[in-house]
Amino acid sequence: MEKLSVIVPCFNEQETLQDYYDAISKVRETLLGKECELQVILVDDGSKDGTLTKMKELSGQCSWIRYISFTRNFGKEAAIYAGLTHAEGEYVSLMDVDLQDPPELIPEMLDIIRQGEYDCVGTRRVDRKGEPPIRSFFARMFYKLMNHISDVEIVDGARDFRLMTRRYVNSLLEMKEYNRFSKGLFGWVGYKTKWLEYENIERKKGETKWSFFKLLAYSIDGIVAFSTAPVRFAAWLGIAFCMLAFLFILVIIGRTLVFGDPVAGWPSLVCIILMLSGIQLFCLGLMGEYLSKTYLEVKKRPIYLCKETNVEKEADEK
Ligand code: UDP
Ligand code: MG
Repeated sequence: MEKLSVIVPCFNEQETLQDYYDAISKVRETLLGKECELQVILVDDGSKDGTLTKMKELSGQCSWIRYISFTRNFGKEAAIYAGLTHAEGEYVSLMDVDLQDPPELIPEMLDIIRQGEYDCVGTRRVDRKGEPPIRSFFARMFYKLMNHISDVEIVDGARDFRLMTRRYVNSLLEMKEYNRFSKGLFGWVGYKTKWLEYENIERKKGETKWSFFKLLAYSIDGIVAFSTAPVRFAAWLGIAFCMLAFLFILVIIGRTLVFGDPVAGWPSLVCIILMLSGIQLFCLGLMGEYLSKTYLEVKKRPIYLCKETNVEKEADEK
């Protein structure tokens, strides 16, 4: 029988785990009817509430549920990576625990992937119902900018909820970078992806872990990870200002020759100095972003640290 592993990152999700279990159990029945065994890997991303206890309880009841628990909160990206390294199935799926990703879609995804044409079946939201308008606006801007300045295609509204083949997952695992931006990695590995669309579903219980500023920082990480356009932009800005300065020099020489040299214009000078130093600091900040990411990357720290788990398979056994 074929095996499908579902990776579920959880951070402070004690309220949602039971509902998730109820939903995924039904899906398991359907999958068994399709000659496919289900394995669920719950990843506890350093939760501070009763998430781990609940996970252990569920895992104790059903041998097809496994858990990995981190020593602290390493972020959803680290949880995804941990899940991917431990997944055993020929097919691997990735989904949120809050039921915003409908588990009922999995059998349909499996049917598509079994046809063999696609290596990934992804999902995208057709609307952003229930999301604050300002968040939607910035999200759209981010996707536009990202697709403009980077080589990888990042689909607007694409969720992390997807079903992948083994070779697709192995390609993802080959990228061992510390600063992981999955939305970009999915596009980077290539292969053919089929997109299923559904309407946005609001979180049933608990609350979102993503504040506006967390999302902003995440999007900057994404840009730095997949594009060097900002650095090039800084260089072009420098050249543009040099040319502007050259023009100014010509104008000032001309004016002095014609009108003499009355001492005036210090307020405009202050404005120019302030603006230029602002731009210089901004560009320095841009370089700093890349430098700091490089710094973190060369340290080669582990992406996550596992406190306890009942999944046998370890990353290096592969
Ligand atoms: N999550 C995680 N680590 C974090 C933040 C979130 O593992 O640091 C998990 C969370 O438990 C959930 C999924 O990532 O299963 C998506 O999080 P959330 O629902 O808060 O995000 P949203 O759906 O609002 O984008
Ligand atoms: Mg959610």
